Amino acid sequence: MSDIEKVKSLIRTIPDFPKKGISFKDIFPIFQDPTAVETLISYLVNHVNTTINEKVDVIVGLDARGFLFGPILALRLGAAFVPVRKQGKLPGEIISAEFVKEYGVDIFELQKEAIKPGQNVIIVDDLIATGGTAHAAGNLVEGSGGKILEYIFIIELIDLNGKNLLKAPVHSIIRY
Ligand code: 5GP
Repeated sequence: MSDIEKVKSLIRTIPDFPKKGISFKDIFPIFQDPTAVETLISYLVNHVNTTINEKVDVIVGLDARGFLFGPILALRLGAAFVPVRKQGKLPGEIISAEFVKEYGVDIFELQKEAIKPGQNVIIVDDLIATGGTAHAAGNLVEGSGGKILEYIFIIELIDLNGKNLLKAPVHSIIRY
């Protein structure tokens, strides 16, 4: 078994969560195993360093599971970390974007001036399903003048074609 296959083996599928008919991929067991976290982060650092030719200025992590590994990745890449959060959580001046999720409508917010015009940004989240969440975050980054180099997800649910909604390249590690 490869190291990434070991990480995949830690992901649990929970039937009927958060509601009936949804098969939820639970990534928290990965974070109970420091070796698996190291594998994941090393894989991502290597991916960025070998495939992205520009300097990464900012890693944007999406509320909430993008906060688990976004800051670690940012630290390893020598980049800033900036959160995109659900409505009402960020202090100061913000910009916002609405999006439709598998489970209803939501609003995402980004602090004004957290991203400077022209900065190179990678957006990270644990999972892409329909792509609506990542698309809204992308609109916020572009609204701040940031340039999206790539979207990175631990898991991609390929049948939902979420990447078709996104204008920048998408990289996922584990696909179902
Ligand atoms: P999308 O907007 O692409 O349809 O949904 C992706 C968002 O919903 C992500 O923020 C992700 O965290 C969350 N999400 C949807 N389904 C799952 C799932 O099965 N497992 C996990 N961990 N997150 C999910």
